[in-house]
Amino acid sequence: MIHIDMKGKHALVMGVANHRSLSWAIAQCLHSAGARVCLTYASERLKPMVEELAGTIGATTLECDVTKDYTIDEVAKRLEGRWGSIEMLVHGIAYARKEDLEGAFVATPREGFQLALDVSAYSLINVIHRTLPLLQKNGASVVTLTYFASERAVPSYNVMGSAKAVLEQSVRQLSFELGSKNIRVNALSAGPVSTLAARGIHGFTDMLKEHSHMAPLKRNITKEEVGTAALFLLSELASGITGTTLYVDAGYHVMGW
Ligand code: NAP
Repeated sequence: MIHIDMKGKHALVMGVANHRSLSWAIAQCLHSAGARVCLTYASERLKPMVEELAGTIGATTLECDVTKDYTIDEVAKRLEGRWGSIEMLVHGIAYARKEDLEGAFVATPREGFQLALDVSAYSLINVIHRTLPLLQKNGASVVTLTYFASERAVPSYNVMGSAKAVLEQSVRQLSFELGSKNIRVNALSAGPVSTLAARGIHGFTDMLKEHSHMAPLKRNITKEEVGTAALFLLSELASGITGTTLYVDAGYHVMGW
């Protein structure tokens, strides 16, 4: 029987807001497999909630706002002292201003476009760059979370669809550049799950219904299914996989109508 054993491995999991966060589901799976986990949260406001969750899996926590380089550097410095290496990196971070997810996409202001792409796509490149000495120590697997709006026009996703397209191309480019350092980089494209970020999308509840109706499996996915698929990509079972997008969407992406 194949068993995923992450004992002795270190996982940096970024983007936990609360118990509904997809990053949290992944962190729980990593913990079950024996990994040591550090969770990051975006601001002081989230600290009590994230510390409470972390306590249940013996994880540590650090603050990291990816729009501020010095907070990423601080995370790298702390983990260098604490662990000396990172074998798994989970990037579950995205943000767009509410008004840029509501109005006409054609009217997206420059600041809104730049902010969404900075937080939701550039941060993957920047975090990898700033933690590279730790990632290349023993080799590493990186997983970022994306959505099908990168490939199709989805009402209300607006600038977030643009950000996800850039994110997925960055995964391919990073996988090429970092492969020789034994660092794998993959994206996991999740179907809709009710989280804080998802509920910011206008019409999200209708979308959940439509998705379950259309998807081959005739249901929506669970955050636990995102967790186990990410565990696979992060583990040695996926040692031959890099630069790819794995769909965890009950098959929705294969449909043609
Ligand atoms: P979530 O719980 O709201 O997670 C998003 C996280 O990004 C939050 O922790 C948020 O913190 C963080 N973040 C925003 N700005 C940040 C910044 N400047 N620095 C650091 N962190 C920042 O929602 P989620 O659905 O789990 O989202 C995780 C990822 O999954 C996202 O990339 C999302 O696009 C992707 N995804 C979600 C779905 C879905 O249906 N839920 C489907 C496909 C892909 P704050 O709360 O403080 O803003």
